Amino acid sequence: MSVKIFKGLDPAPYTPSRLLTLLDRPACIEWLLGQLHPGGLGCAICGATSKTGNGKTEKGLPRYLCGGCGITYNLFSHTPWSGSKLGPRRIVLFMFLLGQDAHPAEIGEAVGLDRTTVITTCRRLAAYRMAGEETSA
Ligand SMILES: [Zn+2]
Repeated sequence: MSVKIFKGLDPAPYTPSRLLTLLDRPACIEWLLGQLHPGGLGCAICGATSKTGNGKTEKGLPRYLCGGCGITYNLFSHTPWSGSKLGPRRIVLFMFLLGQDAHPAEIGEAVGLDRTTVITTCRRLAAYRMAGEETSA
């Protein structure tokens, strides 16, 4: 994970919910773009990369109109985070804590999800990763 995502270390005591305040939203969006779309953000349906802006999502992310097939999509469309109530900063924090082997309850406390939703999300992430490994093999 890139260091620039974190604004800086805070001398105050660590708690999971305090970590969120250290995250820089634009840097989180950039990091997620690289993670979810390493070849660049394009249409998951037809593969076209030509697109025009089409407003913003309810989380304030740019929404695009595909130049190939005309569907609308955003950073999270057709990814495990599609339909998630988490925004970019909370998703990065989720991924960071998951990488630290944090307990689902701790991840939930940090990002504002219940433990069951954290576990369901982890399963969705694992399935997505396995599907990606199958198509790249
Ligand atoms: Zn398309």
